[in-house]
Amino acid sequence: MNTEDLIAEARTAAANAYAPYSGFRVGAVAVAADGSRFVGANVENAAYGSTICAEGSAIAAAATAGVRKLDSVAVACLDTEEAFYPCGNCRQLMTEFGVERVVVDGPDGPMEHTLAEILPHAFIVGRD
Ligand SMILES: [Zn+2]
Repeated sequence: MNTEDLIAEARTAAANAYAPYSGFRVGAVAVAADGSRFVGANVENAAYGSTICAEGSAIAAAATAGVRKLDSVAVACLDTEEAFYPCGNCRQLMTEFGVERVVVDGPDGPMEHTLAEILPHAFIVGRD
């Protein structure tokens, strides 16, 4: 799936975000090695620390389906015109599942990065 289609799917997922506190509706698509896709949206909570990011939601859906290796994660926010990058926690979560490509929605279209570009020197323990 090309980057434009991935971002479109992430934006569709973002429409279902539960974001009454931030007003930032975020959607994500996690793509497994076999091409299977898993969508997620942010789910906020009055106790802010209990909030689940869209990327984490998508990765949790993939993990629940038994996926342990992800090729890509795409993320989009409906409520900003600026590029919308994953937070630090989600970058670390992506590391755990071996994400190689991160697609970010930007004002001039999708932007591709390697995970290493946006999370250099990631915390990795006990993995090859
Ligand atoms: Zn996050």
